[in-house]
Amino acid sequence: MNNDYDIIVVGAGPAGSTAARYAAAGGAKVLILEKDRDVGYPVRCGEAVSHEGIVQFITPDPKWIASTVTKFRLVAPNGKSVLPKLDGTGYVLERRIFDYELAKLAANEGAEVITKAYVYDLLRENGKIVGVKTLIKDKKTEIRAAVIIAADGVESRIGKMAGIDTTCHIRDMESCAQMTLSGIDVEEDVLEFYLGDSISPGGYLWVFPKGKHTANVGLGLSVEAAKKKSAIKYLQEFVDRKYPNAAMLTQIAGGVPCAKTNPEIVKGNVIIVGDAAHQVNPVSGGGIISGMIGGMIGGQTAAESILSGDINHLQEYEKRWHKRLGWRHEIFYNIKDAIAGFHDDTLNDICNSALTIPEEKRTLGGIFRTALWNKPSMILDVAKVFVS
Ligand SMILES: Cc1cc2nc3c(=O)[nH]c(=O)nc-3n(C[C@H](O)[C@H](O)[C@H](O)COP(=O)(O)OP(=O)(O)OC[C@H]3O[C@@H](n4cnc5c(N)ncnc54)[C@H](O)[C@@H]3O)c2cc1C
Repeated sequence: MNNDYDIIVVGAGPAGSTAARYAAAGGAKVLILEKDRDVGYPVRCGEAVSHEGIVQFITPDPKWIASTVTKFRLVAPNGKSVLPKLDGTGYVLERRIFDYELAKLAANEGAEVITKAYVYDLLRENGKIVGVKTLIKDKKTEIRAAVIIAADGVESRIGKMAGIDTTCHIRDMESCAQMTLSGIDVEEDVLEFYLGDSISPGGYLWVFPKGKHTANVGLGLSVEAAKKKSAIKYLQEFVDRKYPNAAMLTQIAGGVPCAKTNPEIVKGNVIIVGDAAHQVNPVSGGGIISGMIGGMIGGQTAAESILSGDINHLQEYEKRWHKRLGWRHEIFYNIKDAIAGFHDDTLNDICNSALTIPEEKRTLGGIFRTALWNKPSMILDVAKVFVS
């Protein structure tokens, strides 16, 4: 390592490694600093992604795919369920290996990676940000760079240090808990979603298979609901009921910013990507692929700024992100608002309508069309999405 780079990326999650990969491919001298000892560990994720999303960046490889899924089961509050087909194929990943592979792709493009490197402050000279202050293997080190990419996840501090308000409104923060359970029977090709006030108010509970006998079982609920009863308590009750003999391999808790993109994602020579920028699908809470898309656009734009010598060019990142995905997240955000207001009765009605559709036509779109037909009052909720 030397002490002068074009771009420093803070955090080696999917967003950070992808930003570094595309910045290095664009001709910049790039360094990734990751606070944990190992890239990809600990895992705080349900690990589900779509094939369509993944292949934009990497060829699917069995070594980081725990299960390939083709269907999903929606379980209504009254216990009835439907099993529609997914629009394409999905995967449940081994993120521990997947994240590692993404970092390798960045390294293959020439990015340097240092782990056990905690960035604790920004380095400033004459009021300008000129690099970062970091603890590398417990030794304080100052490293200079023209651009800083903050990919430091949901608890991001780097953006704040640069003067960007990255606070996620409490109403948009989902409180999540997850256990990886083994010794249970699961359908290897089915993602399961449980809905209802007694299971996960305002959110959903997931069972994502990792092979035939292991699954990530987790749930997310609004922080408001979690004040009355915690996510882990809801989860424990479900697990005690459904998988009383399971062996628990891991247990984690974490937050997901189910919000619109942060209003500001560029400030001077600092940009934020991934969870740090709230680049998460507000309906599903999925942020792996969208974070990688944010990282790619951020990395490419940062390299262009370096090569052209024009730091103001970084502003293009914000425009490109909104054109590519940010606008869709705004629509999803309104959809989330409408769905969050559904009562158990509405969810039961949707499930009942879905059961009237021939099995081969049960797709998500088909289910909602039939539900609207059977319960026209739902049109008001859908209309709200487009009006707001
Ligand atoms: C319970 C749960 C389940 C989820 N399930 C799914 C799912 O099924 N599918 C999906 O698509 N998404 C899911 N998500 C969301 C997904 O995990 C995130 O959107 C995704 O990991 C974001 O990637 P990222 O690179 O922005 O951040 P992260 O993956 O959080 O990476 C940030 C990295 O920055 C490092 N870092 C932080 N601060 C510093 C610092 N100061 N110095 C150096 N390094 C630092 C961290 O150690 C970390 O490695 C889930 C989230 C949770 C909490």
